[in-house]
Amino acid sequence: MSAAHTTFDIAIIGGGLMGCSTAHFIKNMAPHASVAVIEPDPTYEFASTPRASGGCRVQFTCPENIELSRDSIEFIRTFHEHMAVGDTAPDVGWVEGGYLFIVPPEHVQALAGNVKLQNELGGVVHLLTPQELKARFPSMNTSDLGAGAHSPHDGWCDPHALLWGFRRKVASQGVTFVKARVNAIDVDATQVQALTLDDGARITATAFVNAAGAWSSQVAAMAGMHLPIAPMKRYEHYFTPATPMERLPYVKDLARLAFRSEGQGFSGGLVDGSFQRGFDFEVDHTYFERVVWPAAAHRFPPLEAAKCHRTWAGLYEECELDGNAVIGRWTSGLANFYVIAGFSGHGMMHAPAAGRGLAELIVQGAYQTLDLTRLGYERVERNAPYRETGIL
Ligand SMILES: Cc1cc2nc3c(=O)[nH]c(=O)nc-3n(C[C@H](O)[C@H](O)[C@H](O)COP(=O)(O)OP(=O)(O)OC[C@H]3O[C@@H](n4cnc5c(N)ncnc54)[C@H](O)[C@@H]3O)c2cc1C
Repeated sequence: MSAAHTTFDIAIIGGGLMGCSTAHFIKNMAPHASVAVIEPDPTYEFASTPRASGGCRVQFTCPENIELSRDSIEFIRTFHEHMAVGDTAPDVGWVEGGYLFIVPPEHVQALAGNVKLQNELGGVVHLLTPQELKARFPSMNTSDLGAGAHSPHDGWCDPHALLWGFRRKVASQGVTFVKARVNAIDVDATQVQALTLDDGARITATAFVNAAGAWSSQVAAMAGMHLPIAPMKRYEHYFTPATPMERLPYVKDLARLAFRSEGQGFSGGLVDGSFQRGFDFEVDHTYFERVVWPAAAHRFPPLEAAKCHRTWAGLYEECELDGNAVIGRWTSGLANFYVIAGFSGHGMMHAPAAGRGLAELIVQGAYQTLDLTRLGYERVERNAPYRETGIL
């Protein structure tokens, strides 16, 4: 699209997974709506989505997160059925490898409570004793563990394939992709009026969506909205054991060590929530050896001899208020300005159901399938955190 003044029904800022998912469901619900997705980088070099680890799990504690996962996992599992374009059905490489949360004895009661809730909301999660863990995963050191929660139908997929599956489908639905960066947002007292792009073009629309991930607080600020979402670096490593080990589900512990089987080895890392915020993609190649390796080898002693082949850095769009997404309309401010951001490490797995929810809000004026009201911007304005209390 060349520099010009163009009008759409809905303009979505950011063409990562959130932007594309929202566009897809809007077009499903309102095929005649004109939708633009404004994305400066079709290679997605620094976007979070292609750098993700691919994990999808129902093991959360906020009901909304459990339900977002449950519905999204079903969508991802059957992605090829919904997202074919012509004769081409996308393959997102879904692996039903399961998730396993492990905790020391003093956290068993809390874990059991979480498992109960997850099962009540349609997840399948089994509480395992240390003996049962050892029987299933013989390499695991269970001496300091109290229990594990195993969700066998969770798993992982290829985030890059998921993004491009959405993007190709959305393009086939008639969505316009605009290769540009939003540089300014014109507002009046109650509405967003227009976007100004870095090529000088202006876009007017009836509704505007901020789906700019780790950049979403910058975009919000252009409209005068405070969004407590910051870029937080997270490393992902690919490593192999010196001697063969059993295949593992996505194992997570309270220290935020998290990794899963991938090919002959493992993919994952150890999230450090205290990393300085910023657009920093520099890799500290000592991090694996200093932080990840000792923790992994403690839990799986065969990993005493492991080799890290690759480390990359990506950004969590970290919600500093409570680690949960902000989804919804800015009801007290600019009534046609919506946000879908701040998923704090859970965005890949939640994108399908979150995009569907926001599309319902925009097209139908209210949530239809899942009530995501508690994830709305109102809690930010009230400074009232709504926190996940499970393993992050
Ligand atoms: C290492 C790592 C591992 C992860 N593992 C998992 C996992 O296992 N499971 C999981 O569910 N999630 C995981 N995540 C989180 C997940 O990747 C994100 O939550 C998700 O990709 C967010 O999608 P998004 O579309 O909001 O952001 P992005 O993919 O970053 O897309 C945002 C887009 O906005 C565009 N943009 C920015 N500024 C502007 C502007 N001014 N104008 C127009 N466009 C703009 C950017 O170019 C970008 O393409 C992981 C993240 C990282 C970094």
